[in-house]
Amino acid sequence: MKEAGPDPDIAVYTKFMMTHTCYDAIPTSSKLVIFDTTLQVKKAFFALVANGLRAAPLWDNKLQCFVGMLTITDFINILHRYYKSPMVQIYELEEHKIETWREVYLHYSCHSLISITPDSSLFDAIYSLLKNKIHRLPVIDPESGNVLHILTHKRILKFLHIFGATIPKPRFLQKRIREAQIGTFKHIATVKETETLYDALSIFVGRRVSALPVVNEKGKVVALYSRFDVINLAAQKSYNNLNMTMREAVQSRGCCVEGVLKCYPHETLEVIIDRIAKAEVHRLVLVDEDDVVRGIISLSDLLQALVLTPAEISRQMSCDNSKKV
Ligand code: ADP
Ligand code: ADP
Ligand code: AMP
Repeated sequence: MKEAGPDPDIAVYTKFMMTHTCYDAIPTSSKLVIFDTTLQVKKAFFALVANGLRAAPLWDNKLQCFVGMLTITDFINILHRYYKSPMVQIYELEEHKIETWREVYLHYSCHSLISITPDSSLFDAIYSLLKNKIHRLPVIDPESGNVLHILTHKRILKFLHIFGATIPKPRFLQKRIREAQIGTFKHIATVKETETLYDALSIFVGRRVSALPVVNEKGKVVALYSRFDVINLAAQKSYNNLNMTMREAVQSRGCCVEGVLKCYPHETLEVIIDRIAKAEVHRLVLVDEDDVVRGIISLSDLLQALVLTPAEISRQMSCDNSKKV
């Protein structure tokens, strides 16, 4: 029965994540907002903005349990589905309750709440985030049924970055990104600065990517527009004008990261992890010497490569809809 396991050097982060719990990565205090499913969707998104939050668990009072999450992706789906023109108010956004929206939405996708218990390992949390292709994982106390925190890739990488510094660095961190091949390098979804915001939302919906490099006519990256930035439309009440260009959309964002956080093919994995963790962003844009987009290195790619792949869980297995070959 004895099989050669993975190289211990490579599996160091896998072991770290297997021996630490979700509880370990939860901050001592953080803000959490819960929405009743009878709340109007518009009020819910305004409440996210007002509280500086990105997502909230949904409570169904009739069922007396949490039934799902409301995230910025839901806001994007609503805008994209019901937007007509700048002259026409989005009735469904103004009038729908969360439960009405979910009745429409769940017709097309089957979501129940995906959650984790505080004593589960961080390895299991990463597996769940990647397998289910979600970015928000509520940690629920099984005894009280309370949501303690919403775990994200960012929080987990930050935890690894801080506490993983005490463990010996594996050699593969010295690999250059072009050799390590960690990330996405083909069919990168981008948006031109002359395209409209509605075009960008269509790409978010169609490609299910979390961000779009904004490029000029020469293909050079000039900005990054992430799903998170769409919540600015609720903050500024400008969601009725999705005909604005991406150049305008980028300029009208409230506070955002200065410039584009990039990386280059010759840079090592260690440098890239350090940069992404310090900048607290979800991805870096891989560019060549002319600033032309060559790839995306996202926290999903890094956690897959550092934690899941060494445990011999291939990306293929961690994809829900993967085909067997
Ligand atoms: P975002 O990147 O906008 O925060 P996600 O990628 O996490 O959003 O969400 C994608 C879709 O999955 C959304 O419709 C959201 O409501 C749903 N979702 C997100 N997290 C969970 C979860 N833990 N359980 C069930 N559904 C979720
Ligand atoms: P989330 O915390 O929801 O995962 P993101 O990291 O996608 O959010 O985005 C948070 C903010 O950081 C957004 O304003 C986004 O435009 C910005 N941002 C994210 N990645 C980059 C990047 N590589 N370069 C520049 N700005 C970025
Ligand atoms: P994320 O949703 O950012 O966690 O990433 C999930 C997967 O999509 C990762 O393999 C990313 O490299 C990839 N990805 C993210 N953004 C893009 C994009 N704009 N174009 C192509 N792939 C992307």
